[in-house]
Amino acid sequence: MNLITVFRRFPDQQSCIEHLEDIRWGDDPHCPLCGAAHVARKCDGDRVGRWNCHDCKASFNVLSGTIFEKTRIPLQKWFLGIALMVNAKKSLSSHQLARDADLTQPTALYMQQRIRAAMAAEQAPLLQGIVEADETYVGGKPRKRNRRAGKNPPPPPPPPA
Ligand SMILES: [Zn+2]
Repeated sequence: MNLITVFRRFPDQQSCIEHLEDIRWGDDPHCPLCGAAHVARKCDGDRVGRWNCHDCKASFNVLSGTIFEKTRIPLQKWFLGIALMVNAKKSLSSHQLARDADLTQPTALYMQQRIRAAMAAEQAPLLQGIVEADETYVGGKPRKRNRRAGKNPPPPPPPPA
């Protein structure tokens, strides 16, 4: 996914949250604290994506238990950082990331450290899901999803004889 796609596909915090909910839970949301599926979306206006667990009574969101938990950095910048790091041919310096994503250098460094740790751990599928977001989403309804489609594009057609 290139940067233009990130901006178009994830214009705001809400679209990022919805995407994370989709790749983390799909149609089966559950409490990250106790694992219960007995959960309900909270409707309290301005806080996007809050849920209540009816079993352990906790309040949570899709960021709980991930590298994004309690972050103050807009999720769009996290997604950009992940796309930049995954797409980078060589390793990306924190100074470069800071310039590209409009962050301070210490913030960029912090993000990189968390993204790298997540890539090496069990959160790798979550990050993969972010960068492999189906580009047919952009500006329309989701079509048939195929997570492998982006990895091995078909070879170009042969030149005319
Ligand atoms: Zn719970």
